[in-house]
Amino acid sequence: MGALHRKRIADWLLTAPTEQEIEVAGWVRTKRGNKEIAFIALSDGSTINNLQIVAELSKFDEELVKKIQTGASIRAKGKLVSSQGSGQAVEMVAESIELLGEADAETYPLQKKKHTLEFLREIAHLRPRTNTFGAILRIRHSLAFAIHKYFNDHHFYNIHAPIITGSDAEGAGEMFRVSTIDPANPPRKEDGTVDYSQDFFGKESNLTVSGQLEAELAAMALSRVYTFGPTFRAENSNTARHLAEFWMIEPEMAFFELDDNMDLAEDFLKYLIRYAIEHHADDLAFLEKRLLDEETLLPKESRNPLPLTEKLKFVTENPFERITYTEAIAVLEKSGKKFEFPVKWGIDLQSEHERYLVEKHFKKPVILTNYPKDIKAFYMKQDEDGKTVRAMDVLFPGIGEIIGGSQREESYEKLSKRIHEMNIHEESLWWYLDTRKFGTVPHSGFGLGFERLVLFVTGMGNIRDVIPFPRTPKNLEF
Ligand code: ATP
Ligand code: MN
Repeated sequence: MGALHRKRIADWLLTAPTEQEIEVAGWVRTKRGNKEIAFIALSDGSTINNLQIVAELSKFDEELVKKIQTGASIRAKGKLVSSQGSGQAVEMVAESIELLGEADAETYPLQKKKHTLEFLREIAHLRPRTNTFGAILRIRHSLAFAIHKYFNDHHFYNIHAPIITGSDAEGAGEMFRVSTIDPANPPRKEDGTVDYSQDFFGKESNLTVSGQLEAELAAMALSRVYTFGPTFRAENSNTARHLAEFWMIEPEMAFFELDDNMDLAEDFLKYLIRYAIEHHADDLAFLEKRLLDEETLLPKESRNPLPLTEKLKFVTENPFERITYTEAIAVLEKSGKKFEFPVKWGIDLQSEHERYLVEKHFKKPVILTNYPKDIKAFYMKQDEDGKTVRAMDVLFPGIGEIIGGSQREESYEKLSKRIHEMNIHEESLWWYLDTRKFGTVPHSGFGLGFERLVLFVTGMGNIRDVIPFPRTPKNLEF
């Protein structure tokens, strides 16, 4: 049988053992045993569980057996039998083993002992071979798949927003320049500044910080659309929640108002978490145990109140709290807690405030709405009071902001006035403003940071550990 239709270890582990001849290939996790027999734990990445291969040493070449070590790759043929040992239902009795690639025990960095996550970041090219990263990568894949499935099932069209952008007005943070100008000898204007009219696009260009504005254009024709693409932010924030390159999901819906937007965000997040629970019980059980082991070293108050899978179920089974920014400020003021950043109406909420609301006060996800207009983007719909806008941020325990969104301002006059107030270069946004001139409609959307979702579902603590090759300040090795 060709490789395409060959069964994987995940499949064999669920197959009734009738002593049928099978063939598997993968990487050796461990080898143990005695002079007569070797037990090889083999992984092909299809599941967190290994297939145990039992090899009677008298049947195999001594040199070959020596080379079957942690990290080596092999192909094995044999019979699938029910397992004598505990821990697995089936195992393979090997009849032939082919060594595909050796792994020198002296230099292979992934030995049996536990490695720190920091060390594994330094060997990001090999860390997919660990149990932890295998589980994370499988869950990450399923969440990406579930995102497309959810939107397809709810009649959203996927829009590929551009990655290179010429608009400097998105206002979502620092941008990375895209240029073909020779940095050692750039063309200059008379005043000495760099002349970008001679650059590749004839103007300044950057990597996108959001696909929202383009998604809005498409929503004005297709009603429900979403983007799911890479976004880039040159913010120098070296936190456990920020990457310079991350993936963002941005639905944009015509005829959706703020409440509809919140309904979508809540239903969508619950669906995705449920999807992970249903499809990754083994991976989540592994990650949960890993987390519990790690937390035994921490003082009680720094541990998670619930084990990982219970936390995930809790979020899917309970309604999110929905309150306005103004109500949240009142809760914070009444808390009597001394915050590092003092609380007062108008402040941008810091993570200590968000965490207090989510983890201490409401003890569940919170959707905060109607923020002061001065701390939010120009495109958000203005409330009647003239002070707030129809923003909504979804805050999650342990994560803080996972979604940022809003109902959009659909009035040309109000939007254009706000653009002037905020000193944004209106001419560069003529195409965006056109949507408000021609058949404008109420509409809404949000941005979900994909890695923040994966962080929440896997229970990991650092965003660098939920993307295969993280890009952060001073870090671009792999
Ligand atoms: P934060 O306040 O956490 O920096 P933000 O307000 O800049 O986030 P938005 O511009 O609203 O974020 O982006 C939408 C979503 O994208 C956020 O809710 C978050 O999930 C995610 N996100 C934003 N910046 C980053 C980043 N640097 N790395 C990873 N995810 C991010
Ligand atoms: Mn935000």
